[in-house]
Amino acid sequence: VYVLGIETSCDETAASIVKNGTEIVSNVVASQIESHKRFGGVVPEIASRHHVEQITLVIEEALARAQMTPDELSAVAVTEGPGLVGALLVGVNAAKAFAFAHQLPLVGVHHIAGHIYANRLEQEMEFPLLALVISGGHTELIYMKEHGHFEVIGETRDDAAGEAYDKVARTLDLPYPGGPHIDRLAHASDNAIQFPRVWLEEGSYDFSFSGLKSAVLNYMHNAKQRGEDIKPEHIAAGFQNSVVEVVTTKALRAAEQYSVRQVIAAGGVAANRGLRTSLEAAFKEKSIPFFIPSLPLCTDNAAMIAAAGTVMFEKGIRGTMKMNGRPGMELSSWTK
Ligand code: ATP
Ligand code: MG
Ligand code: FE
Repeated sequence: VYVLGIETSCDETAASIVKNGTEIVSNVVASQIESHKRFGGVVPEIASRHHVEQITLVIEEALARAQMTPDELSAVAVTEGPGLVGALLVGVNAAKAFAFAHQLPLVGVHHIAGHIYANRLEQEMEFPLLALVISGGHTELIYMKEHGHFEVIGETRDDAAGEAYDKVARTLDLPYPGGPHIDRLAHASDNAIQFPRVWLEEGSYDFSFSGLKSAVLNYMHNAKQRGEDIKPEHIAAGFQNSVVEVVTTKALRAAEQYSVRQVIAAGGVAANRGLRTSLEAAFKEKSIPFFIPSLPLCTDNAAMIAAAGTVMFEKGIRGTMKMNGRPGMELSSWTK
């Protein structure tokens, strides 16, 4: 089974061909980071325009690198949501046109299901499983009993972790996206400011990062007023410590409570060195198998969409020519 995956939910235009849901045949990602950098974040109109310019080329490139023709494909899988509506529409329309032209089945994939299935491109999934999706727009703990079953047991009530990273980075005058810069500063710091840990109610698996972000802003404001010099690395380290401790503690508690056989992390923030080290140590101590896909599979790509789409395709799930981008799409289980 060869599935063409298409992803355009945010600022990456991507296409990929995956064999049997587990093996990457080709994987093409055109990033727009350079175009959004000077605005300090993703500008939706610019994103859509880039997707329109790139999508056909990226799909052709994915076929060319795989040395395949459309008639060798079994299906087309595309990110249906969530994401920026104008961005999603470009991918969905390209997928519909491609599927119609080549008489291929169409499958609409939830972006977060894609992030989780990125894991399957490097190792087989073992159920029950806990997924920590920690990215620019999401921070979620998801319990999976089997393929296609998703139970969101915790999520952020305000900012996503990546969003908090990017906002704190911005106040420290670091370039966009700020996550890697904060990570680097934190790593090099010899000291860390003590910022609060936000645990929410007893037993809750939800997250909240906006209070932490405000604490950082207040700290900087007060230090400036007192005329103290601000050490960005101490702030970065303090902020990162708080995120890492809360995320590690909640993920570990969830893994134990749900007695999972495997924990996987995904999303751009999973690239964070501090977080990786902390999660690896915590799960190792409890002998719970823990895995993070390699970096290019953690951030947005279409191979993960093809991987999730393959399982859906094999379960008989099909999209129609009425498919539209769904910016607020909920992660629901594949019941078929
Ligand atoms: P979503 O999947 O929720 O729609 P997204 O796909 O745009 O969001 P990703 O591309 O997975 O998000 O991740 C981007 C985020 O990851 C950015 O916020 C970026 O700052 C953050 N990030 C990348 N590397 C690191 C790092 N080393 N430490 C912390 N954050 C990082
Ligand atoms: Mg991105
Ligand atoms: Fe993503």
